[in-house]
Amino acid sequence: MIGILGGTFDPVHYGHLRPALDVFQSLGLERLSFVPLRVAVHRPQPQASSEARLAMLEAAIEGQAGFAVDPRELRRQTPSYTHETLMSLRDELGSRRSLCLLIGADAFAGFLSWYRPMEILELAHLVVMCRPGYDPASEPAPHRLYRERGCEDAADLRALPAGRIQLRDVTQLGISSTRIRRLIAEGGSPRYLLPDPVLDYIERTGLYRSNHGF
Ligand code: ATP
Ligand code: MG
Repeated sequence: MIGILGGTFDPVHYGHLRPALDVFQSLGLERLSFVPLRVAVHRPQPQASSEARLAMLEAAIEGQAGFAVDPRELRRQTPSYTHETLMSLRDELGSRRSLCLLIGADAFAGFLSWYRPMEILELAHLVVMCRPGYDPASEPAPHRLYRERGCEDAADLRALPAGRIQLRDVTQLGISSTRIRRLIAEGGSPRYLLPDPVLDYIERTGLYRSNHGF
């Protein structure tokens, strides 16, 4: 069973990495790929370039067995639809392997407004990571979806290639990239919110010092 975590990663931080490792370990994933988007669909475009976000991700996961960065969305000029990403992954994996799409509880709340959500569920399971300030069960629409498709054990995900939803209790870290960008623009340091190699990259390149595009 393999997993992917899509996002802007502008920049990657411990709120991505630790919950991702929790899921990786508790579900016994063979591989977890971080998939940075190129063209955002539901939000302002990233502040840092694709190259910078890719370099920070690679620095962040260096040395963690089973973690990988998958740059396939960066190669597409078109909007980074998760549906398209999952279709191309499915082509590589075949139809029988279990595939998990990890998303934070905030993203799950808006899941039904994504491009082709029900087709996404034909391609992958959803693994929802709790996030401070967001209750994955509070939104009525995803809640209904969860009632129909929810399951609690890793074995339930393993039994099918796609289509189930699982809420995972991960390490709660109240960290967001928005907060980190704002902190740096205001002259502060994001130390201890993200890995040192990412901090080094940000300091070396002067990323996020200008205060636009929070
Ligand atoms: P931004 O503030 O720019 O939106 P972010 O911190 O939310 O950044 P994203 O790149 O938007 O990071 O998130 C990628 C994925 O990781 C999303 O599914 C999001 O819900 C999840 N995620 C981000 N931060 C956390 C966190 N602290 N805990 C759990 N999940 C998180
Ligand atoms: Mg976000």
